[in-house]
Amino acid sequence: MVDFLAQARAIEPDLTAWRRDFHRHPELRFEEKRTAGIVADHLRSLRFDVQTGIGGTGVVGQLYGEGDGSTVLMRFDMDALPIQEENDVEYVSQNPGVMHACGHDTHVAMGMGVASLLAEQRSSFRGTLKLVFQPAEEGAGGAQAMIRDGVLENPSPDYAFGIHIDATRPVGVIAIGEGPILAAADSFRMLVHGRGGHGALPEDSVDALIVATQIVNAMQTIVSRNVGLLDSALLSVCSLQAGKAFNIIPETAEMLGTIRTYDPEVQAKVHRRVKEVAEHVGGAFGASVQVQIDKIVPVAINDPQVARETRRLAAVLFGADNVEIDYRVAPSDDVAEFLNAAPGCQFILGAALHGYPHHNARFDIDERSLAFGVAFLSQVAFHYLNQ
Ligand SMILES: [Zn+2]
Ligand SMILES: [Zn+2]
Repeated sequence: MVDFLAQARAIEPDLTAWRRDFHRHPELRFEEKRTAGIVADHLRSLRFDVQTGIGGTGVVGQLYGEGDGSTVLMRFDMDALPIQEENDVEYVSQNPGVMHACGHDTHVAMGMGVASLLAEQRSSFRGTLKLVFQPAEEGAGGAQAMIRDGVLENPSPDYAFGIHIDATRPVGVIAIGEGPILAAADSFRMLVHGRGGHGALPEDSVDALIVATQIVNAMQTIVSRNVGLLDSALLSVCSLQAGKAFNIIPETAEMLGTIRTYDPEVQAKVHRRVKEVAEHVGGAFGASVQVQIDKIVPVAINDPQVARETRRLAAVLFGADNVEIDYRVAPSDDVAEFLNAAPGCQFILGAALHGYPHHNARFDIDERSLAFGVAFLSQVAFHYLNQ
């Protein structure tokens, strides 16, 4: 039995140095060139089979074991956020207005650590380890871009895994939920078309602004009246734009918003109701309404059997009391695209430092989490490669 925790701790200085280097040099979505270059060099030095430029700036490294076995894919996202860092640390971002405020710097460092540890074991596992370093997780379709470029082929994965650092859970804790754990995220855009006119002569116009507000109100009944007690959904109208002057009744109004769900049937129903409510309420006032709904990220589903098996591996490493099994949150993550392709799990790794949340200008993490993440992912990879 390989002691992956001891091995991960032995490379802790590297993990920290890598993470701090990426933190100093954050790159926005689809601009992760420097990061990707460092990753590719590291993988090549370990004799991985390396492909670059996948889905823009993505990197794929494949390590072949001895003989046939499973293909295990692990996804690590690389992008930073358009936030000006306010931390007072020696590894503060050197890139004005850009910051690793979601912790993807730690993901890249952990991926490199897993590469190092598994490269040492290449004679004791079968199958193919496929490490995927993905651009643009933050709402820009990086996973889909890589899939379009063939990341799921040659070979296609038998298992898929991902990890996200969590600044709200302590170091030494891991959460492994099962079933839907991260919501599907959709966006909608509505264009209300009325008839503009003089602010003093409403009887000659169809006021797009009034129609829009009626639609916003009526849509509040979709979650409360069309979604059952045991299901859940969220619908937020986040923008309403209409009119420019105090005395002109606006001809058009535009609304933007988001829908979050965990279940494809609930999702389809909410989409249908959003269209029906908008079009019919608009029609009642003599306006026409165009509704466009875009699916951005699907629901992320942890395979129940893989979740139970990896919890057993986690219990050895973290201690059974430190493995959380109830985990489901509202944000989304396009790791879901990989979990749709093969059974697997997205793991949530505790790394709380001082309580600032993700996407905050003072976000930071406890770096002792890195060795835990590397040890656990290496153990998971090793286990499933030899399946
Ligand atoms: Zn994020
Ligand atoms: Zn993130």
